[in-house]
Amino acid sequence: MHEMALMGDIVQLIEEDATAQGITKIEKVELIVGEISNAMPDALRMAFEIFRDQNLHFFSQDAQLVIHTEEAKAQCVLCGTQYRPRQKIALCPECKIPSGKLLSGETFQILSYEGSSD
Ligand SMILES: [Zn+2]
Repeated sequence: MHEMALMGDIVQLIEEDATAQGITKIEKVELIVGEISNAMPDALRMAFEIFRDQNLHFFSQDAQLVIHTEEAKAQCVLCGTQYRPRQKIALCPECKIPSGKLLSGETFQILSYEGSSD
């Protein structure tokens, strides 16, 4: 499950940033996850709970992960049709060829986190 690795990176980034800002307990983490990024929300939630429970010196016991889904959008470079691709190779529904350029849906990033300095 590569979401463990993704979440490990996120936890590390947040820990570094929070430490620099004097934040000692993380209460909430918000992510933006594209529909066709390689990360599955359920697996991310599971990974988050594992990291949280292993790092209670740094995470509040009831720290939450909030996932904002980014809808996938593509536009055909030939006919200009905009559509919602189901995967990274975006097949234009009009031209029936993979002529789509992805506009969104691959994002995987930290939107924000909240914590306290107690
Ligand atoms: Zn097209």
